[in-house]
Amino acid sequence: MPGFEVFGDEEKKEILDVLDTGVLFRYEFPEQRRGVYKVRTFEENFARYCGVGYAQAVTSGTAALKVGLTALGVGPGDEVITQCFTFVATWEAIFDVGAVPVFAEVDETLNMDPADLEKKITSRTKAIVPVHMLGAQARIREIKAIADKHGIPVLEDTAQAAGGSLDGKRLGTFGACGTFSFDAVKTMTTGEGGMIITDDEKLWRNMSEYHDHGHDHVPNPGTRGGEGRNFIGFNFRMMELQGAIGLAQLAKLDDMISRQKKNKAALKEAIGKIKDVSFRTILDETGDTATFIAFFLPDGERAKAVNALLKENGAGAIAFGSNTWHFYPKWEHLLAGSTLNTSGWPFTGPDGKRRVIYDKDALPASAALMDRLLVYQVPVKLTEERLAQMVAALEKAAQI
Ligand SMILES: *Cc1c(COP(=O)(O)O)cnc(C)c1O
Repeated sequence: MPGFEVFGDEEKKEILDVLDTGVLFRYEFPEQRRGVYKVRTFEENFARYCGVGYAQAVTSGTAALKVGLTALGVGPGDEVITQCFTFVATWEAIFDVGAVPVFAEVDETLNMDPADLEKKITSRTKAIVPVHMLGAQARIREIKAIADKHGIPVLEDTAQAAGGSLDGKRLGTFGACGTFSFDAVKTMTTGEGGMIITDDEKLWRNMSEYHDHGHDHVPNPGTRGGEGRNFIGFNFRMMELQGAIGLAQLAKLDDMISRQKKNKAALKEAIGKIKDVSFRTILDETGDTATFIAFFLPDGERAKAVNALLKENGAGAIAFGSNTWHFYPKWEHLLAGSTLNTSGWPFTGPDGKRRVIYDKDALPASAALMDRLLVYQVPVKLTEERLAQMVAALEKAAQI
């Protein structure tokens, strides 16, 4: 839990600024707040850090996806292509705007395979949502080129890769917009929270109004002031305490990443000794956030044997092939079409017909990759004792 590892005096100081004014709401209360606008300042700093014109803070990474998709005009009848290795939130948001998620294979980047993406584009495809999973780059240039050819906007789910880049350009800035999560396990955290970045002013204005019940922000962009509403909205507003924590965490992001890089390098050296091991394709090592280290064994059996030995020695790795949160064949509720409402929506349409069926065997290339994949989360703070234990376990694994 990287961001949480470095929570300290800086965060406390920012929070106290808010408690001193007593204004927890991001808008209004001009006199009482005495110039303290933490969420707005966090948005400005985040946009500047990413090198974009606009940033919109929201309540979570899932909300960021929903606000972004809504602003792009995605809704019922549309398809959105994402990847089969991601967190459930990515496709929850697609369903939640009324669209249908279509899953593309991942390749050795552990992110969207551009060739499979192109095969899955139809006349209904309204958006493409690649994910920069496990802290590193999707093949975003190729994905964007394919999307441009078909005139489809790209939303980058950058929830796991804040601070990452490709050839010096921040992840989240390649598509029409990029979304971020600051939940409790992300590299920078506000406990709960999210952000959407864009260079498109109109898109940002729509996000700003949509996330605040549709209130008219036109006379006062980025804040309130109008009397009417242009369209229906919802409430995804971030509160001042989260904005305050976000400011302190953002200031620590580069340092967290550089410490993770150092720890990742030490682990990589030890992992590299395992026979026939290969590493996940990283398109640009400089722009990797080093939040995770991912490696492949030649086949599933070897991966299981190696991980059993690692576990025995106190250094078990994550096997995403059997983890139930991040990989398509393990999403039992998606495959079963489980929903709480009686109509069956979103799996069943208004006409009572099943509108989408997910087959667990539909993505064989990804299944074969996941089967032989092992992953460690890379902490910001790695004690010498823990590193030594991991290295010793990996050395044992290197001998089988
Ligand atoms: C964490 C995460 C989200 C959702 O973020 P929350 O802030 O937890 O709602 C979305 N996509 C990916 C890839 C994530 O890892």
